[in-house]
Amino acid sequence: MANIDAIVSVSGVSRAFGRKVAVDRADLTLSRGRILGLLGASGSGKSTLLRVISGLEPIDAGTIAIDGQIVSIPGRAVPPEARRVGMVFQDFALFPHLTVAQNIGFGLKGRTDRDATVAALLDRMRLADRGRAFPHTLSGGEQQRVALARALARDPAVVLLDEPFSSLDGALRAEVRDDLVQALRDSGASAIVVTHDAEDAMIMADDLALMEAGRVIQAGTPHELYTRPTSVAAARLLGPINLVEAEVRQGLATSVLGQNSTLLPDGAALMGARPTDIRLTKPEAGLPARVVSVGFSGAFHVVRATIGSHILSIHVTGQLPAVGDGIGVTTDPTPLLVLPLT
Ligand code: ADP
Ligand code: MG
Repeated sequence: MANIDAIVSVSGVSRAFGRKVAVDRADLTLSRGRILGLLGASGSGKSTLLRVISGLEPIDAGTIAIDGQIVSIPGRAVPPEARRVGMVFQDFALFPHLTVAQNIGFGLKGRTDRDATVAALLDRMRLADRGRAFPHTLSGGEQQRVALARALARDPAVVLLDEPFSSLDGALRAEVRDDLVQALRDSGASAIVVTHDAEDAMIMADDLALMEAGRVIQAGTPHELYTRPTSVAAARLLGPINLVEAEVRQGLATSVLGQNSTLLPDGAALMGARPTDIRLTKPEAGLPARVVSVGFSGAFHVVRATIGSHILSIHVTGQLPAVGDGIGVTTDPTPLLVLPLT
């Protein structure tokens, strides 16, 4: 744990509820000034991991350090109010009977710098003319910024956000999300943002940790995880992927899609290509395939084509084939992914 840039270090942390292991030997590092996305399906342990970091929940194994100080070990945990963490919850959890300024200053009672801190935060969150307003009169994006300002008021080392806009949808959601990222960047805060949405996670985060069944199965930048997942579960968490069976012999994997080198042992494996990484060619210039359907999804068309006994999903932005056409497909220049069966 010699990472001096680490603002949050989670090492081998487990948390069970009775026999249900919600977090299972998880490792996680948040670096100073960065936004870490925690992405996983519902029930994978994201909220529990956030709650043990905040101190709302004790741990059964491992250690948690915040800004170089151990805050959780089994049997001992620094309480939330004594950790330098700010929390933003899914529904913002603003106090309805308090004004915006009172909400932001709530955790600063009795401090002489309270008014100045609140004024600075109102300014920084573009809420300067909203200080006297009550939460219900604000837009979703404004409520979000008040919740974030309140979390930032006590100068936390890290801000923890649990599905901060899952209650919103459509265009408003994208707007609030982009607004939130901007506000986090402006504040210079280090943050962990929990989400179950791959697009949200990839757009918001500098670094991502993927969770499945309580474990952090892979961590890296969004681009690394999208292009080089090490498991089918990780690959699927970040978006659609075509998978076909492959055979590994002496470091070379082979499938109907082609070949690639691998460190996997001899035997059965899977080979994968994202729908965005398959291109259509003339029949003679690629692997022979036949178009079975063409659908429009807005930004691109989805062409489905058979190759051997497989159906590939291909995202196409250029010229479209017709249903029944014989086409060629190629994955060049993107390397094929070789993944273990489980
Ligand atoms: P996520 O936030 O990824 O949806 P959670 O951390 O909320 O996942 O939950 C992970 C697992 O732990 C789930 O199976 C959930 O039912 C269980 N769990 C979470 N909190 C409790 C609790 N207080 N008591 C019992 N089981 C819990
Ligand atoms: Mg949750």
